[in-house]
Amino acid sequence: MANYCDNCGCRKLNGYCTGCEEEAYIAFVQAPDYEFSEPFMEKAWQQEKDRNKGGDHA
Ligand SMILES: [Zn+2]
Repeated sequence: MANYCDNCGCRKLNGYCTGCEEEAYIAFVQAPDYEFSEPFMEKAWQQEKDRNKGGDHA
């Protein structure tokens, strides 16, 4: 259950939803050494922040 996204129901990989948190997943899990564009990283960090808030208490 914890392995599925609360928002879209996609399976999470390494704690990231590849649907809602695609940028964060790519930037922090798939290719952490790769230099992404600034807008991409902004989106990734935003997703990372939202992720850490914990969606449990909507
Ligand atoms: Zn999702």
